[in-house]
Amino acid sequence: DDDLALIDGLDEDELGGPEATAWPVLAVVGRPNVGKSTLVNRILGRREAVVEDMPGVTRDRVSYPAEWAGRRFTLVDTGGWEVDVAGIEARVAQQAEVAIALADAVLFVVDATVGATDTDEQVVRLLRRAGKPVVLCANKVDGPAGEADAAALWALGLGEPFPVSALHGRGTGDLLEAAVDALPEVSAHAKPVPDGPRRVALVGRPNVGKSSLLNKVLGTERVVVDATAGTTRDPVDELVLLKGVPWVFVDTAGIRRRVHQTSGPDFYASLRTQAAIEKAEVAVVLVDASAPLTEQDTRVISQVVDAGRALVIAYNKWDLMDEDRRPYLEREIDKDLVQVQWAPRVNISARTGWHTDRLVPALERSLESWDTRISTGRLNAFLGELVAAHPHPLRGGKQPRILFATQASTRPPRFVIFTTGFLDPGYRRYIERRLRETFGFEGSPISISVRVRE
Ligand code: GDP
Ligand code: GDP
Repeated sequence: DDDLALIDGLDEDELGGPEATAWPVLAVVGRPNVGKSTLVNRILGRREAVVEDMPGVTRDRVSYPAEWAGRRFTLVDTGGWEVDVAGIEARVAQQAEVAIALADAVLFVVDATVGATDTDEQVVRLLRRAGKPVVLCANKVDGPAGEADAAALWALGLGEPFPVSALHGRGTGDLLEAAVDALPEVSAHAKPVPDGPRRVALVGRPNVGKSSLLNKVLGTERVVVDATAGTTRDPVDELVLLKGVPWVFVDTAGIRRRVHQTSGPDFYASLRTQAAIEKAEVAVVLVDASAPLTEQDTRVISQVVDAGRALVIAYNKWDLMDEDRRPYLEREIDKDLVQVQWAPRVNISARTGWHTDRLVPALERSLESWDTRISTGRLNAFLGELVAAHPHPLRGGKQPRILFATQASTRPPRFVIFTTGFLDPGYRRYIERRLRETFGFEGSPISISVRVRE
């Protein structure tokens, strides 16, 4: 890429964070108390603390950038939720299922001092069915005396058990070597097949109408298509022809299966949403038009934006919309959705099918923006005019100068601006606003990073 030649030495992470690159995903799965958190902390070392200090990292965050022997990957910690003892099996199975959807490889942790339990056996069945690479961690082998316990786990049929003491670090090197060996170079799901069908995720809090919409869309337009040449897809995804154009709806199995829904924000629902978003290029976030917007709704929207995916917001259940609610709805859009004013909104009814035909054009608009590349020449002409019309405010008598800018990547568009000093946040927002006014980018997040040249 010609533009990139201009910015040699620029670390990929500076262009948009770890999500910018499709690092392969390793998920840690296992029953409570087997030592998952201990292991995760050991793998991350001090990096975890760094991550938690980063602004914008929500408390729901469960994936962390990790590195072992020079191989970078995303570590997903699926164990961060309290389980009530009664529901343990269901919860662990749910966790494994999500990890399978999310991961390129699974690190399955068993307590070697306890041995394989029925719950472990159940997870093994799920893992085996999914066919993803599994590395078996026989944990709590604190010394040579425990090696026999580890060897007993061959019986699980998952291959070699790695005897490990997450607590003391014993054996973790061999374990991680096997784990990174099991990972592909780049994540299979985060990376869409080039020129393959566009990948869309239907997301939103429980009961907003995801499965109703899926059924409506599939029911009216479904055409059975054989795996198109050159496309790889998960069995949980569905390939659908919409007006003759193929689309992949990702993670539909998660939508169809009505998992027991607990009230309140659900850790696993949130993980599954993240998995679907990461597999997709564009996400439709469904919200319930007939009820007030909730924090859960805006959280899902943020997940899409943070992942750098194109976005469409669908106001569903429009048939239940009471005219009295109109002013409140407008106010919510102005207030709670102000950060995503650029996202196309469609009002639909998944139940009646009303206006569901407007989804595809909205998806296409968002994806077009997501793919947009502005040439370096045009971008710098734009910046020149912008600076001439509205220079950066003086700061202590000095003024950072903008040297030049380039678009470092598409999907989503990421810009790097080279300057002689840091830009005020207000000025960065101004640049973003003018970029959108000038070039559109409807439906796509864009990012701007600033690089100070000495
Ligand atoms: P999680 O629920 O699977 O995340 O398990 P934790 O990481 O919280 O560990 C549960 C308990 O097992 C804690 O008391 C840990 O200190 C202990 N533990 C974890 N790993 C080891 C280990 O390798 N050896 C020993 N002896 N204890 C461990
Ligand atoms: P999911 O949990 O997001 O998959 O939501 P569902 O598709 O299961 O829908 C939850 C409930 O809302 C069901 O009772 C649906 O029939 C109902 N529902 C979904 N879409 C609409 C709609 O557009 N209008 C009305 N009135 N009800 C809807």
